Amino acid sequence: MTLMRNTLATAAVLGALAAAPYAHAADPCKLEISGNDLMQYDKPELSAPATCKQITVTLHHTGKLPREAMGHNWVLVNAADLTAVATAGMGAGLANDYVATGDKRVLAHTTTIGGGESTSVTFATSILKKGGAYEYLCTFPGHNALMHGIFKFG
Ligand code: ZN
Repeated sequence: MTLMRNTLATAAVLGALAAAPYAHAADPCKLEISGNDLMQYDKPELSAPATCKQITVTLHHTGKLPREAMGHNWVLVNAADLTAVATAGMGAGLANDYVATGDKRVLAHTTTIGGGESTSVTFATSILKKGGAYEYLCTFPGHNALMHGIFKFG
């Protein structure tokens, strides 16, 4: 019986190894970031090459708290607009994902999610300048002080 289990385990490992060469390389235009219950993103920086025609950012909430208490989103802005966008978003409320309606300073944003959820946004890179100074933040009230990072394009 022990021998049989070992054989099965070996077969499973070999199967995984055989599949590996066929796995696609990670798409540099598809980015992932996570937020947790401690009001933190897991990455201080995201970057995509200028060859991307569009970029998809997927946000995961790895915590357990509901979005009303510890909601997270991912909002892309010009670095200079970060504080103003956070302030405007605070008043917009959860129903608007803490993004002020029609705020032209918001280049892209996801919905606001709670623990265990994921969301993504896809945007055309025609709105970005190669080498521009961009940052991302969570606009849930009070979160941007900790939850922000640098976005590099190009
Ligand atoms: Zn947040």
